[in-house]
Amino acid sequence: MYYRKGFSIGFAIAGLSALAASAMAQGQGQPAAPFMVHQLKPNVYWVEGGGGNSGVIVGDKGVIVIDAKTTAAGGKELLDDIAKITPKPVTTVILTHSDGDHVNGLASFPTSVKVIAHENNKKEQEAALAKGGRGAPPADHLPSQVISTNKESVKIDGVKLELYHWAPAHTSGDLVVYLPSEKIVFTGDIIATQMADPLIHLAKNGSSEGWITTTKGMVALNADQFVPGHGDLQTKAAIQKRLADTEAKRAKIEDLVAQGKSLDEIRTAVGDPPPAQGGRGPGFPSFTQVVYGELTKPGA
Ligand SMILES: [Zn+2]
Repeated sequence: MYYRKGFSIGFAIAGLSALAASAMAQGQGQPAAPFMVHQLKPNVYWVEGGGGNSGVIVGDKGVIVIDAKTTAAGGKELLDDIAKITPKPVTTVILTHSDGDHVNGLASFPTSVKVIAHENNKKEQEAALAKGGRGAPPADHLPSQVISTNKESVKIDGVKLELYHWAPAHTSGDLVVYLPSEKIVFTGDIIATQMADPLIHLAKNGSSEGWITTTKGMVALNADQFVPGHGDLQTKAAIQKRLADTEAKRAKIEDLVAQGKSLDEIRTAVGDPPPAQGGRGPGFPSFTQVVYGELTKPGA
């Protein structure tokens, strides 16, 4: 089965705001483009659209899904797409992190589905539930199996998977999913290609240093296809370039902080767009802001 590639134009134009805006657009019932299903291996697919990218792995008797889209409607569309691939039922969902554009589509999944996530992901979802309001995760689909180690090797439905958490990076509860037999990595939002810089959620205790640790871990895996949280399929060379660029930028910011430069001076020096025209969604500090904050906070 082969499906057309493409459909990343909207993300490219809208940039980071797409992460939040796509959720709202769908929630308001506006017509959205149908998801795109891409096949990577005979039994492995990734599905684009409706929020974060999802992975679909067909096992012996059931299907493993990685990330579940933004809304109940998105979750249903994902399940409908899977039904076109295989009659086998979805038995397991693995979440790469707790953001709503990867989690909240679970509302359309049967409650019997096993949900695997890092323990901090579950804590972040519980905190979001306690806070309530729009964007809170579905209460009846909280993770039923949590990962609290740096590496967990599991076999689900005959499929070998390795789940990694090297450090807090995009959030404190990131989980990278690696298929050693297929040499595929699902990165979650550690990699989101519509942005030049990594997106670190400080509110979820993400870390720029942890991002570098995590990305070093990913490129050390014996893999040649990387499915990002947002954007198109990546090669290892592309991830390595992103890592090198980020390390260089972080080192430059560190150097400027050591020279006593202000945040505005540093932004100008590293070539960031002015904040008002940065194209970034509200509430998401830029990478430069994140690193500056980390390096200048008391005790740093
Ligand atoms: Zn996302």
